[in-house]
Amino acid sequence: MQTGSIWNRSVLVTGASRGIGKGIARVFARAGAKVLIVARDGRQSEAAAEEITAAGGLATPFTADVTNADQMREAARTAAARHGGLDVLCANAGIFPQAKLEDMKPELWDEVMSTNLKGMFLSVQACVPYLKKSDQGRIVLTSSITGPITGFPGWTHYGATKAGQLGFMRTASIELAKYGITVNAVLPGNIATEGLQGLGDEYLKTMAAAIPLKRLGDVEDIGNAALFLASKEASYITGQTIVVDGGQTLPESLDALAYQA
Ligand code: NAP
Repeated sequence: MQTGSIWNRSVLVTGASRGIGKGIARVFARAGAKVLIVARDGRQSEAAAEEITAAGGLATPFTADVTNADQMREAARTAAARHGGLDVLCANAGIFPQAKLEDMKPELWDEVMSTNLKGMFLSVQACVPYLKKSDQGRIVLTSSITGPITGFPGWTHYGATKAGQLGFMRTASIELAKYGITVNAVLPGNIATEGLQGLGDEYLKTMAAAIPLKRLGDVEDIGNAALFLASKEASYITGQTIVVDGGQTLPESLDALAYQA
């Protein structure tokens, strides 16, 4: 029988139908948590839940858009009703359509702000009433190295949201401390997701070569960091970030990257 501090806990993961969110859901379910999988495409969420259930975990799909306050309130209510309360929110849903600054349509800017920032805010606000009742209330945000640490052409809007998440986190962690709720963020580097596979092997190899650990991250690398931040053992950590990037942001020059002992 599992005995870790996440065993039997109720966890809501937004954007858990694929990619990093599915990896987070899988890691939590393997540790014995009851996971609500939230995304807009119900069929993909059902498939993710079935995959987790087939592996012996407990996962329930729920269709909601993080930009819709009513739907997120219903998602939080469902997690609490179906899984006996709510202990952890992993606010992970995000989009990253590329557009150069000079060509960017204001509508695209708004869409990225709406999903990545407002969606995170609405997810947190919907879950707080339930997290307050938990003795292990945890919020884990999926930010990125892009924005808080690095930049990439085509992602001014995206980088702004990922840095903005950290500004939100620092004040939210103070406001929610009185309930014993911690708020932290994971900053992934380049993580191998289903979407990335479409870029082709050669491109992925070039990406891996720019990382000191010489591989892209796995979705479960992010899941493991989120699991730690959600654990009892992390109860004194709040308003902080963990970079999970294989050392990608460390080399100060190509010489440093090429260094072999
Ligand atoms: P992904 O594979 O495209 O998955 C995105 C997930 O979010 C899907 O489940 C998607 O499902 C859901 N989603 C998108 N918009 C939503 C909305 N309005 N409401 C509810 N769910 C929504 O992306 P990913 O690469 O796993 O990225 C996940 C998070 O990690 C994002 O916050 C991203 O910024 C961050 N990140 C990713 C990387 C990377 O290398 N992949 C690196 C750094 C940070 P539906 O479309 O069905 O709603």
